[in-house]
Amino acid sequence: MKVLVLGAGVVGTAAAYYLARDGHEVTVIERHATAARGTSYSNAGLVSPGDATAWASPAALKTFIRGIFNHELGIRVRCRLDPYLFAWSLRFLRQCTRARMRANTDVKIRMALYSRECINALSADTGIAYDGRSKGILYLFRSQQSLDQGSQNYLYLGRHGLDVEVVDRTRLLQLEPGLANSRGPLAGAVYSPMDQTGDSRLFTEALAAYAAEKLGVKFLYGTTVEALDTEGDRVRAVVTSAGRIEADAVVLSMGPESGVFGRRYGIDLPVYPVKGYTATMPLEDPALGPTMGGADEDSFVAYSRLGNRLRLTSTAEFTGFDRSFGPRDFRSLFRTGHELFPGAFDEKKAELWAGLRPMMPNSIPVFGPARFRNFYLDTGHGHLGWTMACGSGKFLADLVASRKPEIDTQGLIYKG
Ligand SMILES: Cc1cc2nc3c(=O)[nH]c(=O)nc-3n(C[C@H](O)[C@H](O)[C@H](O)COP(=O)(O)OP(=O)(O)OC[C@H]3O[C@@H](n4cnc5c(N)ncnc54)[C@H](O)[C@@H]3O)c2cc1C
Repeated sequence: MKVLVLGAGVVGTAAAYYLARDGHEVTVIERHATAARGTSYSNAGLVSPGDATAWASPAALKTFIRGIFNHELGIRVRCRLDPYLFAWSLRFLRQCTRARMRANTDVKIRMALYSRECINALSADTGIAYDGRSKGILYLFRSQQSLDQGSQNYLYLGRHGLDVEVVDRTRLLQLEPGLANSRGPLAGAVYSPMDQTGDSRLFTEALAAYAAEKLGVKFLYGTTVEALDTEGDRVRAVVTSAGRIEADAVVLSMGPESGVFGRRYGIDLPVYPVKGYTATMPLEDPALGPTMGGADEDSFVAYSRLGNRLRLTSTAEFTGFDRSFGPRDFRSLFRTGHELFPGAFDEKKAELWAGLRPMMPNSIPVFGPARFRNFYLDTGHGHLGWTMACGSGKFLADLVASRKPEIDTQGLIYKG
């Protein structure tokens, strides 16, 4: 079949790889000059089923409301006349019960664990390099009270197939010597040994190059998707800035832009762009930096070690498609970085970046035909798209081939 994939982020590129391996003739359409120039350019770098707890939860409800008034928090909500944000927020708030959080988490952990198998197999098959590390991830807690409370969500994931260990401060410092000089309190952590880290930009660029060279995938860079040319229940072609391209099947993987595009065709696709910030810099002294990935659960700052670089990440901000940033957006992120790893980095050398998570109200990506029988979704991966991209691509390729996916499809298929 002739398959068009719309968007060359980590999700679209992984989908193209699996589709091409199935023998399809695959073309990827991307508006930027190369792959991974959208959200996949610079995320926190965590390939982390340990992060599979759905965002919408009773605790998130409180933080979301506090975020409207306090812009120094990890969650910031800018009040603006945006009916779409209002509608999205109502749907998000409906997911904030304990029962919905658990049900959504069950679906996410299933896809995230599957995706871990897929990325491991893909890395072994292709040999691509992306500053990956497989030492696990530490979820840090400042006080015993927050450790006792916060570890509950991880122990729940533990009952659904994730290896987790709750560790005290002594064991924490044995696991992560980089924290030996940390300032401020650290009560302990949850250690997820099978979680990994890596640079999703390097991964996507390398996978795109591999797919082009070894599997014949065509990448049309610098080409904008403008519209679908439809007839009855089929998409006949995609209209682009380079002309009309016919296809037997089309996959929508345009990240944060997927929602606006899908809704033009009557698809109920509530993807909201949730902004976050990253700072990436060389480690001045690698011995003072982390040896594995981590997240400070009390300050909402995540970090990863990418080769000899350190990446710090923070904030979930609801402010539409604005990708701008200024120095104050990085204050809390640098403060936490200096507390955890004093002397490891010089913030003046940082590459600063802001990007948009393609977030569904229930935090679950969506797959399968939508509105047209040959128009497939593989989008809405929110805060976990790097973690779930490979499993998602393989799952999607199974749907396109009308094969039974290797995991239960419950909760993952578009219902419309
Ligand atoms: C601050 C931050 C930290 C994060 N940390 C993590 C993490 O640690 N672990 C994790 O798993 N996930 C993380 N994520 C989430 C993850 O990065 C995303 O879920 C993932 O990158 C989404 O990939 P995507 O391919 O769907 O979107 P994108 O990477 O945005 O790709 C979509 C592509 O579609 C293209 N496109 C859009 N519109 C058009 C058009 N009209 N025509 C042509 N092309 C178009 C875009 O240019 C883009 O290249 C984080 C995100 C952020 C913002």
